[in-house]
Amino acid sequence: MKQKLIAGNWKMNGSLAANASLLQAVLDGSKGMNCHVAVCVPSAYLAQVQVLLAGQSLIALGSQDVSAQEVGAFTGEISAGMLKDFAVRYAIVGHSERRQYHAETDATVALKAQRALSAGITPIVCVGETLADRQAGQTEEVVRRQLAAIIHTNGHCISEIVVAYEPVWAIGTGLTATPEQAQEVHAVLRAQLKAATSNSDRISILYGGSMNAANAAQLLAQADIDGGLIGGAALKSTDFLAIMAAGSKTA
Ligand code: PEP
Repeated sequence: MKQKLIAGNWKMNGSLAANASLLQAVLDGSKGMNCHVAVCVPSAYLAQVQVLLAGQSLIALGSQDVSAQEVGAFTGEISAGMLKDFAVRYAIVGHSERRQYHAETDATVALKAQRALSAGITPIVCVGETLADRQAGQTEEVVRRQLAAIIHTNGHCISEIVVAYEPVWAIGTGLTATPEQAQEVHAVLRAQLKAATSNSDRISILYGGSMNAANAAQLLAQADIDGGLIGGAALKSTDFLAIMAAGSKTA
């Protein structure tokens, strides 16, 4: 079984002082952990966190987005090449907050994944249904459509991506998909990836949506759940460490 990936998404939280103490506490508590770990930090703090993570190999640096453009007159955008300058290893793309507040389409998300891959950065591609989609019985159709766009644009290197299933209704709400609900969707995504590449076993499929210290072990024990993308609980060192510990036990 492959090692779990536990990735924190700090969203628009943090400060120079808060980042330093959070990371110090996570590093101090991480001895003996047997999982991959990443922190996806606000762009303004990439340089700071790169320094804080120097000299250790457990925690990798991630960004929360990447531009779909390569270079040029795109004010406010950050290119994959720039992220690479700060040793960024992962880039979240297609988070539901970006799809919702920045009108990112499946095609834009697929291009972002492509930009990341061509810079040697692993895109963590988020897919997930809204509550309305779920209630209309469209969960499978929605996540399959979102993933199909990624496969269409990145088919030749699809085995290099990470997928995160994040039901929109579970993000930041305290509502979590049950392990059975999550596993059901993960199995759908796994089958879709299997049909797209003979290397699908390499692809980690993370669950995200109010994962916390109390529910992580059960979610991470599911056959097709290869890790977690964690928002709120990634901001508290004790909670994040507990999730890392759960990920280490189920490796
Ligand atoms: C997220 O933003 O990716 C997320 C999963 O958030 P939370 O854990 O707070 O639901």
